Amino acid sequence: MVMRLARPQHCCITLVENVVQERQGGVNAGYFNGIEVEWKARTQVYLDNGGSPEHVPLWPAISTEKKKSFKTLYTHPKEGSSQGVVLKDLNDHELNLCPACGEFGKPNTLDHYLPKGKYPHFSITPVNLFPMCDSCQKEKLEKTNTLQEARLFLHPYFDDFVERQIIHVVIEPPYDTPTFRLELSDWLIGEQRSVVQAHVRELAIERRFATFFKAESIRILKHAAKIRNGKMTIEQSVELFRSLHEDPSLNSWQHLYYRAVLENPEMLEYLATGDLPDKIA
Ligand SMILES: [Zn+2]
Repeated sequence: MVMRLARPQHCCITLVENVVQERQGGVNAGYFNGIEVEWKARTQVYLDNGGSPEHVPLWPAISTEKKKSFKTLYTHPKEGSSQGVVLKDLNDHELNLCPACGEFGKPNTLDHYLPKGKYPHFSITPVNLFPMCDSCQKEKLEKTNTLQEARLFLHPYFDDFVERQIIHVVIEPPYDTPTFRLELSDWLIGEQRSVVQAHVRELAIERRFATFFKAESIRILKHAAKIRNGKMTIEQSVELFRSLHEDPSLNSWQHLYYRAVLENPEMLEYLATGDLPDKIA
């Protein structure tokens, strides 16, 4: 599940200044000189409001005539250009899971938190860009908010609260073939609750991770069969699994899964003494 990321070190405002500077002498020099002040002001509004689409307005004047020039900055950065350096740094990350959904593997694209189709002026804004997996990108598309919901997605640079565990996995019997559902953590309040709910729904997280939970269940059944012949109790052993997975995020799926098992005395009892499926034992 979600992971908090450190904000990019590049200054978003300085980047605007540099990009305008680098356009001097080109065909768009006059245009970029003319919008520099407003572009910087709008970038500042983004920073002040953590990119929330409720508070960051669209920029209709550029969304029509000059949309393409902004998008080109992102899609075709010149070698050594200011935004080229920023984009390269953002792509050179060492993440081995998607910060939006927690899927394992290196997320190989950058997502525009506020989509570049609607907000072309944030096409290259460092805090608007973060690594994301293909599956999340396919679900997210150009969605931002609805009439009822101020925003649909957690922001890994601004939503500090995702450092805590934000959802719980609930495991339902029978424990040899359990079912799963996700519940929001009790401490989430107001807008936090609504954005976590929307994030899970819009990225189709419950459906996408059903297979993971099934695989993990088979693993724990096998493990229970082994541990019954050893010295560790089931609970100590599951606690070890849980603690091994609390890094890099309390919201990693393994951590959420093993925490769910530890919080389920009925399931622990089953693992310790219940009839394990024949093919597992
Ligand atoms: Zn993802």
